[in-house]
Amino acid sequence: MTAPTYDLGKLHGGLRLPGHKTASTAHPIRDVPLPAQLALPITQHVGDPAQPIVAMGDVVLKGQLLAKPEGSLGAPVHAPSSGKVVAIEPWPVSGRYGDKAPCIIIECDGEDRAIDPAKEDQHYLDLAPEALLKKILDGGIVGLGGAVFPTAQKLMQARTGDIDYLILNGVECEPYISCDDMLMRERALSILSGAKVLLHALQIESCYLAVESDKPDALQSLGEALGELDDERIILKQVPTIYPSGGEDQLVQLVTNREVPSGGLPSDVGCLVQNVGTAAAVHDWIENHEPLISRVTTVAGDGIANPMNVRARIGTTIADIVEFTGGYAEQADHLFIGGPLTGKSISTDRVPLVKATNSVLVVLKTSFEGHQLPCIRCGDCASVCPVQLLPQQLYWHACADNEAKLRDFGLTDCIECGCCDLVCPSHIPLTANFRIAKGRIQELADEKARAARARARFEARNARLEQEKADRESELARQKESARRAGPAAIAEILKRKKESEGE
Ligand code: SF4
Ligand code: SF4
Repeated sequence: MTAPTYDLGKLHGGLRLPGHKTASTAHPIRDVPLPAQLALPITQHVGDPAQPIVAMGDVVLKGQLLAKPEGSLGAPVHAPSSGKVVAIEPWPVSGRYGDKAPCIIIECDGEDRAIDPAKEDQHYLDLAPEALLKKILDGGIVGLGGAVFPTAQKLMQARTGDIDYLILNGVECEPYISCDDMLMRERALSILSGAKVLLHALQIESCYLAVESDKPDALQSLGEALGELDDERIILKQVPTIYPSGGEDQLVQLVTNREVPSGGLPSDVGCLVQNVGTAAAVHDWIENHEPLISRVTTVAGDGIANPMNVRARIGTTIADIVEFTGGYAEQADHLFIGGPLTGKSISTDRVPLVKATNSVLVVLKTSFEGHQLPCIRCGDCASVCPVQLLPQQLYWHACADNEAKLRDFGLTDCIECGCCDLVCPSHIPLTANFRIAKGRIQELADEKARAARARARFEARNARLEQEKADRESELARQKESARRAGPAAIAEILKRKKESEGE
Protein backbone atom coordinates (compact mmCIF):
# COMPACT_ATOMS: atom_id res chain seq x y z
CA MET A 1 0.00 0.00 0.00
CA THR A 2 1.26 3.52 -0.87
CA ALA A 3 1.16 5.89 2.12
CA PRO A 4 -0.30 9.39 1.64
CA THR A 5 1.86 12.53 1.99
CA TYR A 6 0.95 15.51 4.19
CA ASP A 7 3.01 18.60 3.24
CA LEU A 8 0.30 21.20 2.72
CA GLY A 9 -0.39 24.86 2.08
CA LYS A 10 -2.67 26.88 4.35
CA LEU A 11 -6.38 27.42 3.89
CA HIS A 12 -7.86 30.70 5.09
CA GLY A 13 -11.04 30.53 7.16
CA GLY A 14 -13.36 27.59 6.69
CA LEU A 15 -15.24 25.54 9.26
CA ARG A 16 -15.10 22.11 10.86
CA LEU A 17 -18.62 20.82 10.36
CA PRO A 18 -20.37 17.65 11.54
CA GLY A 19 -20.22 15.23 8.59
CA HIS A 20 -23.59 13.41 8.91
CA LYS A 21 -22.17 10.75 6.59
CA THR A 22 -22.06 7.55 8.65
CA ALA A 23 -25.64 6.53 7.78
CA SER A 24 -25.14 6.78 4.01
CA THR A 25 -21.71 5.11 4.03
CA ALA A 26 -22.86 2.11 6.09
CA HIS A 27 -23.81 0.17 2.93
CA PRO A 28 -22.13 -0.46 -0.41
CA ILE A 29 -23.35 1.52 -3.42
CA ARG A 30 -26.63 0.00 -4.64
CA ASP A 31 -27.91 0.02 -8.22
CA VAL A 32 -31.32 1.60 -8.80
CA PRO A 33 -33.35 -0.65 -11.17
CA LEU A 34 -34.12 0.65 -14.63
CA PRO A 35 -37.23 2.86 -14.40
CA ALA A 36 -40.16 2.77 -16.85
CA GLN A 37 -39.28 6.22 -18.15
CA LEU A 38 -36.21 8.46 -18.34
CA ALA A 39 -36.24 12.26 -18.73
CA LEU A 40 -33.01 13.63 -20.20
CA PRO A 41 -32.45 17.39 -20.13
CA ILE A 42 -30.56 18.57 -23.22
CA THR A 43 -28.62 20.96 -20.96
CA GLN A 44 -26.58 19.09 -18.36
CA HIS A 45 -23.41 21.15 -18.75
CA VAL A 46 -22.40 24.81 -18.53
CA GLY A 47 -22.60 25.59 -22.27
CA ASP A 48 -25.38 25.91 -24.85
CA PRO A 49 -28.13 23.26 -24.92
CA ALA A 50 -27.27 20.15 -26.94
CA GLN A 51 -29.15 19.77 -30.24
CA PRO A 52 -31.49 16.72 -30.34
CA ILE A 53 -30.83 14.41 -33.31
CA VAL A 54 -33.69 12.01 -32.52
CA ALA A 55 -37.42 12.53 -33.00
CA MET A 56 -40.60 11.26 -31.36
CA GLY A 57 -41.15 7.59 -32.14
CA ASP A 58 -37.44 6.79 -32.69
CA VAL A 59 -36.23 3.56 -31.13
CA VAL A 60 -32.90 4.10 -29.35
CA LEU A 61 -30.24 1.86 -27.84
CA LYS A 62 -28.23 2.29 -24.64
CA GLY A 63 -25.24 4.53 -25.33
CA GLN A 64 -26.73 6.00 -28.54
CA LEU A 65 -26.20 9.71 -29.17
CA LEU A 66 -29.47 11.61 -28.56
CA ALA A 67 -28.29 15.21 -28.74
CA LYS A 68 -25.07 16.61 -30.18
CA PRO A 69 -23.06 19.41 -28.57
CA GLU A 70 -23.54 23.03 -29.63
CA GLY A 71 -21.12 25.91 -29.10
CA SER A 72 -17.69 25.92 -27.52
CA LEU A 73 -18.83 24.56 -24.13
CA GLY A 74 -21.35 22.00 -25.32
CA ALA A 75 -21.54 18.33 -24.37
CA PRO A 76 -23.49 15.47 -25.97
CA VAL A 77 -26.34 13.56 -24.32
CA HIS A 78 -26.60 9.76 -24.72
CA ALA A 79 -29.41 7.28 -24.14
CA PRO A 80 -28.99 5.62 -20.71
CA SER A 81 -31.02 2.59 -21.83
CA SER A 82 -32.90 1.19 -24.81
CA GLY A 83 -36.47 2.22 -25.58
CA LYS A 84 -38.57 4.66 -27.56
CA VAL A 85 -38.49 8.46 -27.64
CA VAL A 86 -42.05 9.39 -26.63
CA ALA A 87 -41.63 13.16 -26.28
CA ILE A 88 -39.22 16.06 -26.48
CA GLU A 89 -40.82 18.65 -24.25
CA PRO A 90 -40.33 20.89 -21.19
CA TRP A 91 -40.03 18.81 -17.99
CA PRO A 92 -39.39 19.80 -14.36
CA VAL A 93 -35.66 20.16 -13.69
CA SER A 94 -33.40 21.49 -11.01
CA GLY A 95 -31.06 23.75 -12.87
CA ARG A 96 -29.93 27.28 -13.47
CA TYR A 97 -32.31 27.59 -16.45
CA GLY A 98 -35.50 27.66 -14.39
CA ASP A 99 -37.94 25.08 -13.16
CA LYS A 100 -38.60 23.49 -16.54
CA ALA A 101 -36.30 22.70 -19.44
CA PRO A 102 -36.51 20.73 -22.69
CA CYS A 103 -36.01 17.01 -22.08
CA ILE A 104 -35.91 13.93 -24.28
CA ILE A 105 -38.33 11.44 -22.73
CA ILE A 106 -37.56 7.76 -23.29
CA GLU A 107 -40.00 4.97 -22.51
CA CYS A 108 -37.64 2.14 -21.56
CA ASP A 109 -38.25 -1.30 -23.09
CA GLY A 110 -36.60 -3.02 -20.12
CA GLU A 111 -34.15 -4.89 -22.36
CA ASP A 112 -31.26 -2.47 -21.87
CA ARG A 113 -29.84 -3.24 -25.33
CA ALA A 114 -26.63 -1.33 -26.05
CA ILE A 115 -25.17 -0.07 -29.33
CA ASP A 116 -22.11 -1.89 -30.65
CA PRO A 117 -19.03 -0.02 -29.44
CA ALA A 118 -17.07 1.64 -32.23
CA LYS A 119 -14.26 -0.55 -33.49
CA GLU A 120 -11.17 0.82 -31.77
CA ASP A 121 -7.83 0.08 -33.36
CA GLN A 122 -5.73 2.37 -31.21
CA HIS A 123 -5.09 2.32 -27.49
CA TYR A 124 -5.44 5.80 -25.96
CA LEU A 125 -1.67 5.94 -25.38
CA ASP A 126 -1.21 5.75 -29.15
CA LEU A 127 -3.56 8.68 -29.75
CA ALA A 128 -2.31 12.26 -30.08
CA PRO A 129 -3.63 14.43 -27.20
CA GLU A 130 -5.99 16.31 -29.58
CA ALA A 131 -7.54 13.04 -30.79
CA LEU A 132 -7.90 11.84 -27.20
CA LEU A 133 -9.58 15.12 -26.18
CA LYS A 134 -12.03 14.80 -29.08
CA LYS A 135 -12.81 11.28 -27.88
CA ILE A 136 -13.39 12.44 -24.29
CA LEU A 137 -15.79 15.10 -25.64
CA ASP A 138 -17.71 12.39 -27.55
CA GLY A 139 -18.33 10.53 -24.27
CA GLY A 140 -20.38 13.41 -22.83
CA ILE A 141 -18.02 13.64 -19.85
CA VAL A 142 -18.48 16.72 -17.65
CA GLY A 143 -17.13 17.65 -14.21
CA LEU A 144 -19.08 15.47 -11.76
CA GLY A 145 -18.21 17.53 -8.69
CA GLY A 146 -21.18 19.76 -9.52
CA ALA A 147 -19.68 22.31 -11.91
CA VAL A 148 -20.49 20.22 -15.04
CA PHE A 149 -17.86 22.02 -17.10
CA PRO A 150 -17.21 19.78 -20.14
CA THR A 151 -14.04 17.86 -19.31
CA ALA A 152 -12.53 17.89 -22.81
CA GLN A 153 -12.87 21.68 -23.10
CA LYS A 154 -11.35 22.16 -19.65
CA LEU A 155 -8.37 20.03 -20.68
CA MET A 156 -8.09 21.90 -24.01
CA GLN A 157 -8.07 25.27 -22.25
CA ALA A 158 -5.44 24.04 -19.81
CA ARG A 159 -3.25 22.78 -22.65
CA THR A 160 -2.96 26.34 -24.00
CA GLY A 161 -0.86 27.21 -20.89
CA ASP A 162 1.80 25.46 -18.82
CA ILE A 163 0.27 22.83 -16.54
CA ASP A 164 2.45 21.15 -13.91
CA TYR A 165 -0.10 19.22 -11.86
CA LEU A 166 -3.31 17.34 -12.37
CA ILE A 167 -5.15 17.41 -9.02
CA LEU A 168 -7.82 14.77 -8.50
CA ASN A 169 -10.37 16.10 -6.06
CA GLY A 170 -11.49 13.47 -3.57
CA VAL A 171 -12.24 16.12 -0.96
CA GLU A 172 -15.94 15.85 -0.28
CA CYS A 173 -16.23 18.31 2.55
CA GLU A 174 -19.91 19.32 2.51
CA PRO A 175 -22.03 17.57 5.15
CA TYR A 176 -24.19 14.58 4.11
CA ILE A 177 -22.57 14.08 0.65
CA SER A 178 -20.58 10.84 0.43
CA CYS A 179 -20.82 9.64 -3.19
CA ASP A 180 -17.13 10.33 -3.93
CA ASP A 181 -16.07 8.64 -0.70
CA MET A 182 -17.97 5.49 -1.70
CA LEU A 183 -16.62 5.65 -5.24
CA MET A 184 -13.05 5.88 -3.92
CA ARG A 185 -13.67 2.90 -1.63
CA GLU A 186 -15.24 0.75 -4.35
CA ARG A 187 -13.65 1.87 -7.62
CA ALA A 188 -10.16 3.06 -6.73
CA LEU A 189 -8.54 1.35 -9.73
CA SER A 190 -11.01 2.94 -12.18
CA ILE A 191 -10.25 6.39 -10.73
CA LEU A 192 -6.49 5.82 -11.12
CA SER A 193 -6.98 4.47 -14.64
CA GLY A 194 -8.92 7.66 -15.50
CA ALA A 195 -6.10 9.73 -13.98
CA LYS A 196 -3.62 8.03 -16.33
CA VAL A 197 -5.82 8.90 -19.32
CA LEU A 198 -6.00 12.53 -18.15
CA LEU A 199 -2.22 12.69 -17.67
CA HIS A 200 -1.75 11.49 -21.25
CA ALA A 201 -4.29 14.04 -22.54
CA LEU A 202 -2.42 16.81 -20.70
CA GLN A 203 1.02 15.41 -21.56
CA ILE A 204 2.23 15.90 -17.97
CA GLU A 205 3.79 13.59 -15.41
CA SER A 206 2.41 14.67 -11.99
CA CYS A 207 -0.92 13.98 -10.37
CA TYR A 208 -1.94 14.63 -6.76
CA LEU A 209 -4.90 12.68 -5.50
CA ALA A 210 -6.32 14.68 -2.56
CA VAL A 211 -8.46 12.95 0.07
CA GLU A 212 -9.56 14.16 3.51
CA SER A 213 -8.20 12.61 6.67
CA ASP A 214 -11.69 11.51 7.84
CA LYS A 215 -11.96 9.01 4.97
CA PRO A 216 -9.73 6.12 6.16
CA ASP A 217 -11.48 3.49 4.02
CA ALA A 218 -11.08 5.55 0.85
CA LEU A 219 -7.43 6.28 1.70
CA GLN A 220 -6.74 2.61 2.27
CA SER A 221 -8.48 1.53 -0.92
CA LEU A 222 -6.64 4.15 -3.01
CA GLY A 223 -3.33 3.33 -1.30
CA GLU A 224 -3.74 -0.36 -2.17
CA ALA A 225 -4.73 0.42 -5.76
CA LEU A 226 -1.70 2.72 -6.11
CA GLY A 227 0.56 -0.04 -4.80
CA GLU A 228 -0.94 -2.41 -7.38
CA LEU A 229 -0.58 0.12 -10.18
CA ASP A 230 2.98 1.11 -9.30
CA ASP A 231 2.75 4.46 -11.11
CA GLU A 232 5.04 7.00 -9.45
CA ARG A 233 3.38 9.89 -11.24
CA ILE A 234 0.32 9.68 -8.95
CA ILE A 235 0.77 10.79 -5.32
CA LEU A 236 -1.89 10.41 -2.63
CA LYS A 237 -2.22 13.53 -0.46
CA GLN A 238 -4.16 13.57 2.77
CA VAL A 239 -5.75 16.93 3.56
CA PRO A 240 -7.50 18.14 6.72
CA THR A 241 -11.28 17.89 7.00
CA ILE A 242 -12.19 21.55 6.79
CA TYR A 243 -15.08 22.92 4.81
CA PRO A 244 -14.67 24.12 1.98
CA SER A 245 -11.24 22.63 1.24
CA GLY A 246 -12.79 20.86 -1.80
CA GLY A 247 -13.32 24.19 -3.60
CA GLU A 248 -11.00 24.22 -6.62
CA ASP A 249 -8.96 27.26 -5.62
CA GLN A 250 -8.80 26.16 -1.97
CA LEU A 251 -7.62 22.70 -2.95
CA VAL A 252 -4.89 24.10 -5.21
CA GLN A 253 -3.70 26.23 -2.28
CA LEU A 254 -3.75 23.28 0.11
CA VAL A 255 -2.05 20.78 -2.19
CA THR A 256 0.52 22.95 -3.99
CA ASN A 257 0.73 26.10 -1.84
CA ARG A 258 0.02 28.12 -5.00
CA GLU A 259 -2.59 30.88 -4.77
CA VAL A 260 -5.09 31.21 -7.62
CA PRO A 261 -5.34 34.95 -8.39
CA SER A 262 -8.63 36.82 -7.92
CA GLY A 263 -10.76 36.24 -11.01
CA GLY A 264 -8.26 33.63 -12.23
CA LEU A 265 -8.28 29.89 -12.76
CA PRO A 266 -6.17 27.06 -11.30
CA SER A 267 -4.52 26.81 -14.74
CA ASP A 268 -3.08 30.31 -14.10
CA VAL A 269 -0.86 28.68 -11.46
CA GLY A 270 -0.14 25.50 -13.43
CA CYS A 271 -2.88 23.26 -12.01
CA LEU A 272 -5.89 21.45 -13.38
CA VAL A 273 -8.48 20.06 -10.95
CA GLN A 274 -10.78 17.16 -11.80
CA ASN A 275 -13.24 15.37 -9.54
CA VAL A 276 -12.53 11.68 -8.79
CA GLY A 277 -15.94 10.77 -10.24
CA THR A 278 -14.97 12.47 -13.49
CA ALA A 279 -11.77 10.40 -13.63
CA ALA A 280 -13.83 7.20 -13.19
CA ALA A 281 -16.22 8.37 -15.94
CA VAL A 282 -13.24 8.98 -18.26
CA HIS A 283 -12.05 5.42 -17.52
CA ASP A 284 -15.53 3.98 -18.23
CA TRP A 285 -15.65 5.71 -21.61
CA ILE A 286 -12.09 5.28 -22.82
CA GLU A 287 -11.55 1.73 -21.56
CA ASN A 288 -15.10 0.31 -21.56
CA HIS A 289 -16.86 2.41 -24.27
CA GLU A 290 -19.58 3.51 -21.85
CA PRO A 291 -20.48 7.19 -22.20
CA LEU A 292 -21.68 9.17 -19.18
CA ILE A 293 -25.14 7.62 -18.74
CA SER A 294 -25.19 6.90 -15.00
CA ARG A 295 -23.71 8.27 -11.81
CA VAL A 296 -23.46 7.64 -8.07
CA THR A 297 -25.47 9.97 -5.87
CA THR A 298 -26.02 10.24 -2.12
CA VAL A 299 -29.59 10.00 -0.81
CA ALA A 300 -29.50 11.32 2.74
CA GLY A 301 -30.96 13.56 5.43
CA ASP A 302 -33.34 13.06 8.33
CA GLY A 303 -36.22 13.00 5.87
CA ILE A 304 -34.94 9.81 4.17
CA ALA A 305 -35.92 6.46 5.71
CA ASN A 306 -32.73 4.61 4.65
CA PRO A 307 -29.84 6.92 3.68
CA MET A 308 -27.44 5.33 1.19
CA ASN A 309 -25.46 5.87 -2.00
CA VAL A 310 -26.98 4.62 -5.21
CA ARG A 311 -25.91 4.32 -8.82
CA ALA A 312 -28.76 5.36 -11.14
CA ARG A 313 -29.19 6.02 -14.84
CA ILE A 314 -29.19 9.68 -15.79
CA GLY A 315 -32.83 10.68 -16.30
CA THR A 316 -34.26 8.55 -13.46
CA THR A 317 -36.61 10.74 -11.43
CA ILE A 318 -35.74 11.58 -7.83
CA ALA A 319 -39.12 10.05 -6.88
CA ASP A 320 -38.02 6.66 -8.34
CA ILE A 321 -34.64 6.89 -6.60
CA VAL A 322 -36.09 7.78 -3.19
CA GLU A 323 -38.69 5.03 -3.51
CA PHE A 324 -35.91 2.50 -4.22
CA THR A 325 -34.07 3.51 -1.06
CA GLY A 326 -37.18 2.96 1.07
CA GLY A 327 -39.04 6.24 0.72
CA TYR A 328 -39.35 9.38 2.82
CA ALA A 329 -39.38 9.50 6.59
CA GLU A 330 -42.39 10.94 8.36
CA GLN A 331 -42.26 14.75 8.57
CA ALA A 332 -39.97 14.94 5.54
CA ASP A 333 -40.37 18.50 4.43
CA HIS A 334 -37.68 20.06 2.25
CA LEU A 335 -36.01 18.45 -0.74
CA PHE A 336 -32.60 19.70 -1.90
CA ILE A 337 -30.55 18.71 -4.91
CA GLY A 338 -26.96 18.99 -3.70
CA GLY A 339 -25.74 19.55 -0.17
CA PRO A 340 -27.24 21.62 2.64
CA LEU A 341 -24.90 24.56 1.96
CA THR A 342 -24.53 24.68 -1.81
CA GLY A 343 -27.61 22.74 -2.91
CA LYS A 344 -30.85 23.98 -4.41
CA SER A 345 -34.25 23.59 -2.79
CA ILE A 346 -36.80 22.11 -5.19
CA SER A 347 -40.55 21.71 -4.98
CA THR A 348 -41.08 18.40 -6.81
CA ASP A 349 -39.38 15.01 -6.89
CA ARG A 350 -40.39 14.55 -10.54
CA VAL A 351 -37.07 16.19 -11.52
CA PRO A 352 -34.58 13.76 -13.05
CA LEU A 353 -31.12 12.82 -11.83
CA VAL A 354 -28.65 14.66 -14.08
CA LYS A 355 -24.88 14.57 -14.51
CA ALA A 356 -24.53 17.24 -11.78
CA THR A 357 -26.62 15.48 -9.12
CA ASN A 358 -24.19 14.46 -6.40
CA SER A 359 -26.79 14.37 -3.65
CA VAL A 360 -30.49 14.23 -2.88
CA LEU A 361 -31.04 15.66 0.57
CA VAL A 362 -34.35 15.60 2.42
CA VAL A 363 -34.73 17.42 5.73
CA LEU A 364 -37.44 17.73 8.37
CA LYS A 365 -39.53 20.78 9.14
CA THR A 366 -37.66 21.33 12.38
CA SER A 367 -34.36 21.79 10.51
CA PHE A 368 -35.22 25.40 9.74
CA GLU A 369 -34.79 27.57 12.75
CA GLY A 370 -33.89 31.17 13.50
CA HIS A 371 -35.44 34.45 12.41
CA GLN A 372 -33.36 37.05 10.64
CA LEU A 373 -32.13 39.92 12.80
CA PRO A 374 -30.13 43.07 11.91
CA CYS A 375 -26.36 42.76 11.41
CA ILE A 376 -24.46 43.43 14.64
CA ARG A 377 -21.09 43.89 12.87
CA CYS A 378 -19.47 41.07 14.79
CA GLY A 379 -17.18 40.23 11.85
CA ASP A 380 -17.57 36.46 12.27
CA CYS A 381 -18.57 36.07 8.62
CA ALA A 382 -15.30 37.65 7.45
CA SER A 383 -13.17 35.50 9.72
CA VAL A 384 -14.49 32.23 8.18
CA CYS A 385 -14.61 33.33 4.53
CA PRO A 386 -12.12 31.12 2.64
CA VAL A 387 -11.74 33.81 -0.06
CA GLN A 388 -11.05 36.55 2.49
CA LEU A 389 -14.06 38.63 1.47
CA LEU A 390 -16.11 40.92 3.70
CA PRO A 391 -19.56 39.28 3.57
CA GLN A 392 -21.30 41.91 5.69
CA GLN A 393 -20.19 44.66 3.28
CA LEU A 394 -21.15 42.57 0.28
CA TYR A 395 -24.55 42.06 1.86
CA TRP A 396 -25.18 45.82 2.17
CA HIS A 397 -24.15 46.42 -1.42
CA ALA A 398 -26.28 43.48 -2.59
CA CYS A 399 -29.29 44.97 -0.78
CA ALA A 400 -28.56 48.34 -2.42
CA ASP A 401 -28.11 46.62 -5.80
CA ASN A 402 -24.80 48.49 -6.20
CA GLU A 403 -23.09 46.58 -8.97
CA ALA A 404 -19.89 48.65 -8.94
CA LYS A 405 -19.36 48.19 -5.20
CA LEU A 406 -20.18 44.48 -5.42
CA ARG A 407 -17.45 44.11 -8.03
CA ASP A 408 -15.02 46.21 -5.94
CA PHE A 409 -15.66 43.99 -2.94
CA GLY A 410 -15.00 40.83 -4.97
CA LEU A 411 -18.48 39.31 -5.31
CA THR A 412 -17.36 37.32 -8.34
CA ASP A 413 -14.72 35.57 -6.22
CA CYS A 414 -17.37 34.32 -3.75
CA ILE A 415 -17.59 30.53 -4.10
CA GLU A 416 -21.03 30.44 -2.43
CA CYS A 417 -19.77 28.04 0.23
CA GLY A 418 -22.25 29.27 2.86
CA CYS A 419 -19.67 29.48 5.70
CA CYS A 420 -20.71 33.07 6.42
CA ASP A 421 -24.37 32.01 6.83
CA LEU A 422 -23.45 29.27 9.27
CA VAL A 423 -21.68 31.58 11.71
CA CYS A 424 -23.94 34.63 11.41
CA PRO A 425 -25.63 35.14 14.80
CA SER A 426 -28.29 37.27 13.10
CA HIS A 427 -29.30 34.43 10.75
CA ILE A 428 -28.86 36.65 7.69
CA PRO A 429 -29.13 34.63 4.45
CA LEU A 430 -25.91 36.12 3.08
CA THR A 431 -25.12 33.49 0.44
CA ALA A 432 -28.64 33.53 -1.01
CA ASN A 433 -28.32 37.29 -1.45
CA PHE A 434 -24.91 36.85 -3.11
CA ARG A 435 -26.33 34.27 -5.52
CA ILE A 436 -29.15 36.62 -6.52
CA ALA A 437 -26.74 39.55 -6.93
CA LYS A 438 -24.41 37.43 -9.07
CA GLY A 439 -27.39 36.37 -11.20
CA ARG A 440 -28.36 40.02 -11.73
CA ILE A 441 -24.79 40.96 -12.70
CA GLN A 442 -24.64 38.00 -15.10
CA GLU A 443 -27.97 39.00 -16.65
CA LEU A 444 -26.67 42.53 -17.22
CA ALA A 445 -23.47 41.15 -18.76
CA ASP A 446 -25.50 38.82 -21.01
CA GLU A 447 -27.71 41.72 -22.06
CA LYS A 448 -24.65 43.83 -22.89
CA ALA A 449 -23.13 40.94 -24.86
CA ARG A 450 -26.41 40.45 -26.76
CA ALA A 451 -26.57 44.19 -27.58
CA ALA A 452 -22.92 44.15 -28.74
CA ARG A 453 -23.61 41.14 -30.97
CA ALA A 454 -26.71 42.85 -32.47
CA ARG A 455 -24.70 46.05 -33.08
CA ALA A 456 -21.89 44.06 -34.73
CA ARG A 457 -24.43 42.26 -36.97
CA PHE A 458 -26.04 45.61 -37.94
CA GLU A 459 -22.66 47.20 -38.75
CA ALA A 460 -21.57 44.14 -40.73
CA ARG A 461 -24.79 44.27 -42.76
CA ASN A 462 -24.35 47.98 -43.52
CA ALA A 463 -20.74 47.39 -44.54
CA ARG A 464 -21.82 44.54 -46.82
CA LEU A 465 -24.55 46.68 -48.47
CA GLU A 466 -22.07 49.53 -48.97
CA GLN A 467 -19.58 47.14 -50.51
CA GLU A 468 -22.20 45.65 -52.84
CA LYS A 469 -23.23 49.15 -53.96
CA ALA A 470 -19.60 50.12 -54.59
CA ASP A 471 -19.04 46.87 -56.53
CA ARG A 472 -22.14 47.50 -58.67
CA GLU A 473 -21.04 51.07 -59.46
CA SER A 474 -17.53 50.02 -60.34
CA GLU A 475 -18.86 47.25 -62.61
CA LEU A 476 -21.17 49.76 -64.38
CA ALA A 477 -18.28 52.17 -64.83
CA ARG A 478 -16.20 49.37 -66.29
CA GLN A 479 -19.00 48.35 -68.67
CA LYS A 480 -19.58 51.99 -69.69
CA GLU A 481 -15.93 52.42 -70.49
CA SER A 482 -15.77 49.29 -72.62
CA ALA A 483 -19.07 50.28 -74.34
CA ARG A 484 -17.73 53.78 -75.03
CA ARG A 485 -14.93 52.12 -76.84
CA ALA A 486 -17.37 49.78 -78.65
CA GLY A 487 -19.85 52.51 -79.85
CA PRO A 488 -23.32 54.17 -79.24
CA ALA A 489 -25.42 50.97 -79.56
CA ALA A 490 -23.53 49.33 -76.72
CA ILE A 491 -23.97 52.50 -74.54
CA ALA A 492 -27.74 52.36 -75.15
CA GLU A 493 -27.76 48.68 -74.13
CA ILE A 494 -25.83 49.46 -70.90
CA LEU A 495 -28.19 52.32 -69.99
CA LYS A 496 -31.18 50.05 -70.63
CA ARG A 497 -29.72 47.38 -68.28
CA LYS A 498 -29.01 50.02 -65.62
CA LYS A 499 -32.63 51.22 -65.74
CA GLU A 500 -33.87 47.64 -65.50
CA SER A 501 -31.62 46.93 -62.51
CA GLU A 502 -32.89 50.10 -60.79
CA GLY A 503 -36.48 48.96 -61.35
CA GLU A 504 -37.58 51.85 -63.57
S1 SF4 B 1 -20.39 32.32 0.71
FE1 SF4 B 1 -18.94 33.71 -0.28
S2 SF4 B 1 -18.75 35.42 1.14
FE2 SF4 B 1 -19.67 33.71 2.29
S3 SF4 B 1 -17.94 32.70 3.23
FE3 SF4 B 1 -18.32 31.64 1.30
S4 SF4 B 1 -16.98 32.67 -0.17
FE4 SF4 B 1 -17.09 34.00 1.64
S1 SF4 C 1 -21.76 37.49 10.91
FE1 SF4 C 1 -23.78 38.37 10.54
S2 SF4 C 1 -24.04 39.84 12.19
FE2 SF4 C 1 -21.86 39.35 12.15
S3 SF4 C 1 -20.95 40.92 10.78
FE3 SF4 C 1 -21.46 39.17 9.50
S4 SF4 C 1 -23.49 39.64 8.71
FE4 SF4 C 1 -23.19 40.98 10.49
